[in-house]
Amino acid sequence: MFEQHLHKLTTQHLSRRLRTLHSATGPEVELEGRHVLLMASNDYLGLATHPDVVQAAIQATQQYGAGAGAARLISGTFPPHQELELALAEFKTTSAALTFGSGYLANLGTIPALIGRGGLILADRLCHASLLDGSKLSGADLRVYRHSDVGHLQTLLARRGRGRRTLIITDGLFSMDGDLAPLPDIVDLAQRYETDLYVDDAHGTGVMGATGRGTIEHFGLESRISFHMGTLGKALGSSGAYVVGPSTLIEYLMNTCRSFIFTTAPPPASAAAAAAALRVLQREPDRRTRLWANRERLASGLKNLGFRLTASVSPIIPILVGDAEKAVTFAEQLFAEGVYAPAIRPPTVPESTSRVRVTITSEHTLLHIEQALRAFERAGKTARLL
Ligand code: PMP
Repeated sequence: MFEQHLHKLTTQHLSRRLRTLHSATGPEVELEGRHVLLMASNDYLGLATHPDVVQAAIQATQQYGAGAGAARLISGTFPPHQELELALAEFKTTSAALTFGSGYLANLGTIPALIGRGGLILADRLCHASLLDGSKLSGADLRVYRHSDVGHLQTLLARRGRGRRTLIITDGLFSMDGDLAPLPDIVDLAQRYETDLYVDDAHGTGVMGATGRGTIEHFGLESRISFHMGTLGKALGSSGAYVVGPSTLIEYLMNTCRSFIFTTAPPPASAAAAAAALRVLQREPDRRTRLWANRERLASGLKNLGFRLTASVSPIIPILVGDAEKAVTFAEQLFAEGVYAPAIRPPTVPESTSRVRVTITSEHTLLHIEQALRAFERAGKTARLL
């Protein structure tokens, strides 16, 4: 049965395999024995290898050990986790924060803590898998609205039973399209229809907004969206995730969220690294300036070559291909030309929308981008996309 399933995935060009990276993440890496340009990482600001971030992890490991030993409510919590939560709350201008082992865990636990059987979840069609899994686990009814379609969301809100507990769920910055949710309109609807809102800003944090506080800052909605989640493994270069919001809500989550209560705390090193990354992010705004300049250079270069891009406005710049097999061929050609960017296929993205997901970081140089564009052009021609 497993073999059959794997065989089917292979014939549909949907099978996946791991590729070994023999160097730290960065603009140039050793991947599968080849020196290539990496255009796949979410380490948008290069903080995973920043000396201060690495040093903070080393120091926390030396002081507190490699592992946390148990869940935080069981054997005690270490200062790095608490310091990180204080720093996150301050950075996000909210009163409190709670950290999790990963974004997947944060979503899997938080959504069922917010809503349960009898409730209604309205989620964007392109929401991250962890949001959909958390929604299913909650036992609430799940309806999906068309991607970023506020009219459709309103129709679903108007149709639901009066006074029914409802939670709207959306990514802030969509991970596989690189576009933004229409948060101002969604907040208006949430207010008008008296529903709660849960925003996943995994990719917006550190990237969007004048000071990198995320998509909510980008839209100037911090006074209206007091509660949301984000991750520490992308622009913050470490691993784990957080939920920020009013103290009572955070205390409630600490008491009820199963993916917080029933799991070993993240290693002190990753909490200390994330806290150090937050400090670097605020101290070195030029990283974000470089990121956005690179983003504009690469996106306009790809557009000028004639590639079909998504509605991206961010450092995630996917090239739309459509067919899964063709997306794989294109990614292979790119690799042969010295660039690694992965083919993203169903079920990660809807049928017939396979793509090569390209990401850019602050650490790519002008030369890297020129080299990449030449590789994209050659691979695009070989794969008959241009
Ligand atoms: N939400 C979104 C939008 C994501 O893109 C991801 C990671 N791909 C997650 C949540 C899960 O975060 P983590 O990788 O920390 O589990």
